[in-house]
Amino acid sequence: MLPDAAQCVKCGLCLAECPTYGLSGSEAQSPRGRIALIQALEKREVQVGRHAADLLDSCLLCRRCEKICPSEVSFAALMDRGRSMVRPSLPVAEKLLSAVLSRPWLGRMLVAPGKLLPKRSRLGYFAAQASLRPMSLKPLYLPEGKAGLGRVGLFTGCTASLLDTEVLSSALTLLLHAGYEVAVPGGQQCCGALDAHAGNSPRAQRLMQTNVDAFRNAGSLNAILSIATGCGAQLQDYDSLPAPHEDICSFLAREEVLQRLSFRSLAASVAVHLPCSLVNVLGQELAVFRLLNKIRGLQVHEIGRRGGCCGAAGTAMLLRPRMAGSLRDPLAEEIAGLSPDAVLSGNASCRLHLAAADESAGRAYLHPLVLLAQQLVRE
Ligand code: SF4
Ligand code: SF4
Repeated sequence: MLPDAAQCVKCGLCLAECPTYGLSGSEAQSPRGRIALIQALEKREVQVGRHAADLLDSCLLCRRCEKICPSEVSFAALMDRGRSMVRPSLPVAEKLLSAVLSRPWLGRMLVAPGKLLPKRSRLGYFAAQASLRPMSLKPLYLPEGKAGLGRVGLFTGCTASLLDTEVLSSALTLLLHAGYEVAVPGGQQCCGALDAHAGNSPRAQRLMQTNVDAFRNAGSLNAILSIATGCGAQLQDYDSLPAPHEDICSFLAREEVLQRLSFRSLAASVAVHLPCSLVNVLGQELAVFRLLNKIRGLQVHEIGRRGGCCGAAGTAMLLRPRMAGSLRDPLAEEIAGLSPDAVLSGNASCRLHLAAADESAGRAYLHPLVLLAQQLVRE
């Protein structure tokens, strides 16, 4: 690990890009400061404790610093390692929440009592959005009446069956309509991001291996597609997936796929939020505009600073509400100013976090796939 950290030449170019540095003005909450802290922890010059844990835990893992770093420091890998060093001192709530969210059966058991909480409380709001019944998925879906162009694997992740059932069914509709067989391996689990970010590297590694095995058993695949950009960022770092990973919007926007889909026009306006995981890690952010441009009459506005973080950041929106709220405020103002009919974002936690600030407007917050499936011309 030290050679990785030593790659940082401490130039400071990343500081202006870091949202936590921007809010705090503190070097300790900058990428450079966090790398220095990890180096000091490794050399045992600094003791593991609440303060060190807090400085690492407050990183949103937006990976903006990694994207712009001229020395190509692998910041996320360093941070996962740093958090595993300070795991004993990480907040219990963080470890508990990651453990629950990465186990859908456990999350589902807690949704019912969570729905009894007042909706204005953070947990109550999120429980209100979750589905009590898991979506039943088949291991393989075949397109009707069309020669298969190929077969893709669909990564559903751990929270999809709780929060993203509409996105999953929209993904299946679009892929089948484009003529692809869709494998949805039953053995897949959480992508591992929640555990990795909570410093539980051994469990993250086990989950990653389980997913690799599940997709290996699904037969030959052209691509493995993720529907949430946060999961996609983690899948992108897997080193032995049996097929290339791609964000589903990027796959659907491929010329040979898109030419097989047509959409009804829609006189409406949408604000598009590009999650930091999509921009900074996957680099596939232009696909969504290519897809939406196929809906005639739709006015599309991009919101936010490209590559910036909305503050959702996995569990940060629940555990660090002040910071999460400060990062969301400019986006919420932009949305209120534009007053679009809907806000689109490819990541469930970003959508929930943004929607929570806009409840009274009654606006729809959707994954782009949901709008595309609604407008799809079905023969
Ligand atoms: S992480 Fe990269 S950009 Fe930031 S100080 Fe280190 S070398 Fe410079
Ligand atoms: S990942 Fe984001 S929040 Fe964390 S240090 Fe880098 S720029 Fe800052």
